Amino acid sequence: MPTIITGQFQSTSQRQQPAAHLTRTMQLLEKTCNELDTELATEISENPALEMAEECRCPDCKQIIPSYPCQACMNRLNGTGPIVYVAPRANRTYSTDEHEEYYSTDNRLRDPETLSEHVLKQVAPSISSKERKIAEHILARLDEHGFLIDHPAEIATYLRASLKMVKAVIELIKRADPIGVASQDVMECLLTQLDTLEQDGKTHPLAHNLLANFWEQLARRDFDTVARKCNVSVQTVKSAAKFIKRNLSPYPAQSHWNNASNATGRYFRPDVEVIKNPHKEDGPLIVQVFSAARGWLRVNSSVRSMVSKIEDPAKKDEWAAYLERAALFVKCMRQRDNAMKRIVKLIVTRQPKFILGTDKDLIPMTRVELADQLELHESTISRAVANKTIALPNGRIIPLSTFFDRSLAIRAAVLTIIEQESTAMTDEQVAHKLIDYDYKVARRTVAKYRSMLGILPANLRARQLPSAV
Ligand SMILES: [Zn+2]
Repeated sequence: MPTIITGQFQSTSQRQQPAAHLTRTMQLLEKTCNELDTELATEISENPALEMAEECRCPDCKQIIPSYPCQACMNRLNGTGPIVYVAPRANRTYSTDEHEEYYSTDNRLRDPETLSEHVLKQVAPSISSKERKIAEHILARLDEHGFLIDHPAEIATYLRASLKMVKAVIELIKRADPIGVASQDVMECLLTQLDTLEQDGKTHPLAHNLLANFWEQLARRDFDTVARKCNVSVQTVKSAAKFIKRNLSPYPAQSHWNNASNATGRYFRPDVEVIKNPHKEDGPLIVQVFSAARGWLRVNSSVRSMVSKIEDPAKKDEWAAYLERAALFVKCMRQRDNAMKRIVKLIVTRQPKFILGTDKDLIPMTRVELADQLELHESTISRAVANKTIALPNGRIIPLSTFFDRSLAIRAAVLTIIEQESTAMTDEQVAHKLIDYDYKVARRTVAKYRSMLGILPANLRARQLPSAV
C-alpha cells in the first residue's frame, strides 16, 4: 500500500501525533527552498528548543563531513545511476580547501545577489518587522518573470495579516527596482512602470490609454484601428507604441537582470541542481537537492537537560511542549528532504537523455507512475513537484513539473518538422509526419501545439518561406 511519506518513518510517526506530523511534512514538502528558509527562520525564532548547529553533517550517516556530498555514503552506494544528495544551499561555508572543487556547484551559481535580496534591501529600511515578514513572503512567491504567484488575499490569509497591509507592501515592492516586480501580470507591471515614468516627467500622452485599452490591437500591430478609435493619427499611435517598447519591460525580472551575465535567469535559486560528473565524462550525474538549512537543524540539547531539572509543573509542561515541537519539526524537515531526494532520484534516473539533451528527449511520465514505483501517494509527488525548479547541466532552470509535461517532446518534434519543411506543411501533414516520431496526434492537437510554439498556420507561413526552395 502506498504511504504518504517514506515507510521508514511510519512506525515512529504513528506513535506520536500521526496527523499533525504528516500534515506538517506535507506542508514543508510543498514549499520551495526560499519558502523553507522563511519557515525555518520563523520556527527557530519562535522555539528556543530548536537550533541550527554550525556544522556540516551528512543527513544519511549523521557524521560530520568536510563538505557535501558525504564521501563515505557515496562510496557505499557505488552503483549505477545518479548521485543524489541533500545539502544546504550555502554549503561552501563548510567546505575545506581540498574539497572545494570537488563536486562544487558554487562557481556556477555564485551570484552577487538574488532578485529577492535586491528588492528586500530597498524596501526593508522603510517598513515595520511585521511588514518585512510580508515582504519576504511576497518575494519568495515570485515566478521566473518576477510576477506574484499568489493572490494578495491568499497571502493575507496565510500570514494572518490584513489585506490592506499586504497590498501596501506589494505596492512598495512594485515601486522598487526593478519596477513592476511582484505585479500580478504583464499589464499591471507595465502600468506601474508607466506611472513611475510619468512621475519623473517622462511620458507619452497616448501611452496609458494604449496600454489600458488597446493592448490586443497593439500586440497585433493594428495601429489603424487604434488611431481611429482614439481619434489620432496612425503616426501618433506608432510613436506611442515605440515609447512603450523602448521604455517599458513586460517582465520585471528580466529588465533588471538582463545586464548580468546570467541572462538565463540563473539568479533564481533552483530547488534542485544537476551537474555533469566533473571527474568522468560518462560518470553518473550529480544531483543536489537543496534543503533550507544552513547548518544542522536539531533539538537544543541544553534545553532538554534544563527541562528535566524544572520542578514547577506548569513551567515544565511549557518547556516540554517546546521540545516536542522542535523534535517534530526536525523530523518533518528530514522527511521532507528525504522524500524530495527519492523523488528527484527517480526522475533523474529516468530522464538522463532529456537532462543532457533537448526537449525532444523527454520521456513522458506521470506522477502516478512515480508514485507507484516509490510506493508513495500521488499527492505526495504532486506536492514535491509543485513550484519547484531544477537547474540542468547546461544552466537552464526549468520547473520540476516539466518532466511530467506529456506534450513537451511532441511539441519539440512539431518544431523540428516545421523547421525542416521545404514548403509550408499543413497541420494535417505535420500530424502525419509525427507518426515517424511515434506520435499519433490529431490535427487539432498539432494546431494547438503549433500555436503554443508561436508558429503561424501553413497558409501564413507559406509567405515567409523562400519560393524557390
Ligand atoms: Zn554519510
